[in-house]
Amino acid sequence: ASSPVRYLLHDGELIDYADARLHVLSTSMKYGVGVFEGFRAYWSEEEGELYAFRVQDHMRRLLDSMRVVEIEGPTDIDELTEQLLGLVRANDLRSNLHMRAQVFVDSADGKPDDTGPSTVYMAAIPMGNYFGATGLDVQISSWARLSDRAMPPRVKSIANYQNGRLALLEARRNGYGAALLLTENGHVAEGAGYNVFMVRQGRLCTPPSTESILEGITRDSVIQLAQKELGLEIDIRPIDRTELYSADEIFVCGSAAEVNHVKSVDRTPIGDGSQPGEITAQLQGLYQQAVRGQLDSFRDWVIPVYGT
Ligand code: PMP
Repeated sequence: ASSPVRYLLHDGELIDYADARLHVLSTSMKYGVGVFEGFRAYWSEEEGELYAFRVQDHMRRLLDSMRVVEIEGPTDIDELTEQLLGLVRANDLRSNLHMRAQVFVDSADGKPDDTGPSTVYMAAIPMGNYFGATGLDVQISSWARLSDRAMPPRVKSIANYQNGRLALLEARRNGYGAALLLTENGHVAEGAGYNVFMVRQGRLCTPPSTESILEGITRDSVIQLAQKELGLEIDIRPIDRTELYSADEIFVCGSAAEVNHVKSVDRTPIGDGSQPGEITAQLQGLYQQAVRGQLDSFRDWVIPVYGT
């Protein structure tokens, strides 16, 4: 089978794509124990440079995830960052990328409570648009977002993805492109791989990090861009389901999803039901500039991978 890239990284060493292995009897495979990160890098044709976006912030969250779900492993953010960038250079990748770092517990005859030995894999793979730029028709899922009392949604644990997967499968079956999940209390939480914002009565709003969400790095980027570039105040507050139906604009955001507008919720059109609203469009534009290092105030979000 053809591989999308030549090399992956295993505990800091380059390996061939086909040689990544995890034993079926490891704790990770038996019990769904593992944490990961998903990052992006953007190729600038004009500059002939690749910009990796907020890599250290993702690595910091990876360490937080390891701490919360109790997996032993690396602790040096700068070293992990250098390893990931080294992998990109080894593959000589010069296009938009999706990158991953994954930490598994690779114990032989693994027990559910094994915390090590852990093993770290990294990948960097060319990726175009995750959703396309056409906007999303979203269903409010009948599945609740998992709660911090059951499985912490705050961190990027692989087991959490079963929850979003069920919501996405249900949405697809019903003819929708994406799903949003509510908390056990009926507040808007997030989607299968993205946080959510709405503009209602002229205010930009998003749920606080205590509402069963992953503390998204794109969410944080959008908040900072809205504050500093657009001079907006943001209401970080619980959002009811019915506020979405009467919102002027809604968008979702994530490293893979970028900033993507919602065209309808449960078939109720949002805005004109097709195009992004004004604030969404501005934030989409700013985000695309920020990830390519084109905004002076946010230049420290990017690392030029080839150092041109
Ligand atoms: N929520 C969930 C459940 C996700 O999987 C993701 C994607 N990592 C996000 C939100 C967005 O997070 P980020 O902006 O850090 O990619």
